[in-house]
Amino acid sequence: MDRRRLLQVVGGVGAGIVGGLVPGALAREASAGPRPARKAPKPRPAAKSVVILGGGFGGITAALELRKAVAADRAAITLVDRKPRFLMGLRKLWIVAGVGNRADGERPLAALRARGVDVREAAVTAVDTGARAVRTEAGDLPYDFLVVALGAEPRPDLVPGFSEAAFNLYDPEQSEKLGARVASLSRGRVVIGVAGVPYKCPPAPYECAMLLDEAFRKRGVRDAIEIRTFTVQPMSLPVLGRKRCDEFEGRLQAKGIAFEAKKKLVKLDGSRAVFEDGTLEADVLAIVPPHRPPAVVKASGLTGAGEWVAVDRGTLRAGPAGVYAIGDVTDIPLANKMSLPKAGIFAELEGKAVAAGIAAEILGKAAPTPFDGRGYCFVEHGAGQAAAVQGEFFAEGEPKVEFLAPTPEGYAKKVEFERERLKAWFG
Ligand SMILES: Cc1cc2nc3c(=O)[nH]c(=O)nc-3n(C[C@H](O)[C@H](O)[C@H](O)COP(=O)(O)OP(=O)(O)OC[C@H]3O[C@@H](n4cnc5c(N)ncnc54)[C@H](O)[C@@H]3O)c2cc1C
Repeated sequence: MDRRRLLQVVGGVGAGIVGGLVPGALAREASAGPRPARKAPKPRPAAKSVVILGGGFGGITAALELRKAVAADRAAITLVDRKPRFLMGLRKLWIVAGVGNRADGERPLAALRARGVDVREAAVTAVDTGARAVRTEAGDLPYDFLVVALGAEPRPDLVPGFSEAAFNLYDPEQSEKLGARVASLSRGRVVIGVAGVPYKCPPAPYECAMLLDEAFRKRGVRDAIEIRTFTVQPMSLPVLGRKRCDEFEGRLQAKGIAFEAKKKLVKLDGSRAVFEDGTLEADVLAIVPPHRPPAVVKASGLTGAGEWVAVDRGTLRAGPAGVYAIGDVTDIPLANKMSLPKAGIFAELEGKAVAAGIAAEILGKAAPTPFDGRGYCFVEHGAGQAAAVQGEFFAEGEPKVEFLAPTPEGYAKKVEFERERLKAWFG
């Protein structure tokens, strides 16, 4: 189906004003009576349809920033997500450790409607970049500009035995169940591990280990519970380099948390993690599954020959006309041959850059400053402390990144990170 036909059939995003005059303007013309001859007013450009796929860090930011920059008569903004509610990843760790609950951090995406964004709760089933249209379970949406912000999906199904044996550390329901399990644990071995790369928020599994260390200490059971971590990677946080990883792994060791690198998980078998080079028995297995882009992204050809969506790292343009991609669904190579970490802060900053780029195109303004790869996050160390990681990830040669010591101020900033975004986005 071509784009014009789609517009007729669906009456989709902003279709009432796409290609037409604003109704109020027609009414004013009719009632004004005779007037001196004057030059015909320049017709206003039709409103553009901007469709944003995914209501996470990237999609929400892109929608709200674009709304601020461009009035409704110049851009109709539709955001599509299959989930009705937003929950920040960092809260899942607080749920596991019993220091936070889900309800306090969840917000309805529908609240964005009050800010001029048309929110649709529906699964995206196809993207047709030729016809410039998105297919969803609730109908088709034609677009002038498309922002793909569909994230990265943890895929426990890629590890045999996962669902019977382990908790998926990145799933909100599972984090509640894992929280209940560790809250009643009084002895044994907890194993937290990374089964595949890339995965979102690289420090998260280690943060989880440190938060559990604190929780077990508070309950007075730490001496009877062993905490072990493993990763398939050569070191804990490779993008930070060997020296900083040694330092970080030293901090884990100081808390009595074992760390093992280069452990390739083959399967989970009851209470055993089976690696290429041995097995590990556990009372609780909390695993970060391998991640993949949502199936629709690959099936629609947006990843090309690669695994993730390739973009221009400054503009976040993804290839087909009018298409941008941001956040975890993308792969942005760095000078040291690694990739930009999958993190909410980058999805958010990319969302801002894309909103500025689309606004400039719609309003006929100069292109904005490109996204520069600067970012930060706060790594929780337990006991009310967090360490800031901050730097320039697009620096020549290798990322210029600082990894500061954990402090109470760092922890306060982490708590504030969630609070200020929930307030700014949902009110
Ligand atoms: C435990 C944990 C802790 C974290 N801590 C931090 C932190 O401290 N700081 C930080 O910066 N980042 C953190 N992150 C990472 C952060 O959550 C992600 O990097 C971020 O969410 C990526 O944003 P995004 O917009 O690319 O994708 P997401 O936020 O994942 O949003 C994608 C959206 O697309 C929707 N979607 C997917 N497929 C479809 C479909 N077919 N149809 C319709 N909708 C679909 C999903 O429902 C989802 O809402 C953490 C993550 C985890 C798991």
